[in-house]
Amino acid sequence: MIVGGALGALLFAGGATAGPQVAIALPAAPEAPEGCRQTLRDDGLRLAPWPLRPEKLQAGVSCAAPEGVSIRRGTSGLRFQPPARVNCAFGLRLVRFESIVQEEAKRTLGSPVRAIVQLGTYNCRRMAAYPDLVSEHSFANAIDVATFVLKNGRQVVVERDWIPAAKAAATPAAMFLRRLTRRLYDEKVFSVVLTPSYDRHHRNHLHLDGAAYSVDGT
Ligand SMILES: [Zn+2]
Repeated sequence: MIVGGALGALLFAGGATAGPQVAIALPAAPEAPEGCRQTLRDDGLRLAPWPLRPEKLQAGVSCAAPEGVSIRRGTSGLRFQPPARVNCAFGLRLVRFESIVQEEAKRTLGSPVRAIVQLGTYNCRRMAAYPDLVSEHSFANAIDVATFVLKNGRQVVVERDWIPAAKAAATPAAMFLRRLTRRLYDEKVFSVVLTPSYDRHHRNHLHLDGAAYSVDGT
């Protein structure tokens, strides 16, 4: 696991009761780029506006999703089940995500993906493992992916098909999950990629988010 500098600073600030004060930016939702929703529509996504009233989580931090969107289908026709309710900037990340998913599914599994079953995007809360820290789910800036449903009817289930890197005899489904998560982190589609190898909270899903810091939890 690699923890970027900002998370280190957040951890320090969260746990510090004495000693020097560290000036850090409070976590916040990413602003939507100009014309963001229209860019997504031009890319062929099926979406509806998802307006979210900001909600206070703690001093200085509000849960919010600038120009929120509810995405039902992506550019390749892939369905998000249920629809992915995210901030608009995160929607742009999902476009890149989908294209890598399809490339790796065709290459490794011989079939494109027709649906992604996800466990959640927006949830105004602190991190499960680090209660001092704010979860990116608070900004609809994250998605928890449980299952990939292929066009040929087969499924890749994270809880069943994830195999620790040390095991040599990887199945095609395990190879798909490995290659996919490696690329999502290396190509900076997401800044945080957490897998079942990371901790017990992630045994049944991939947590993908767009935080200001980086965590390689592959
Ligand atoms: Zn998550």
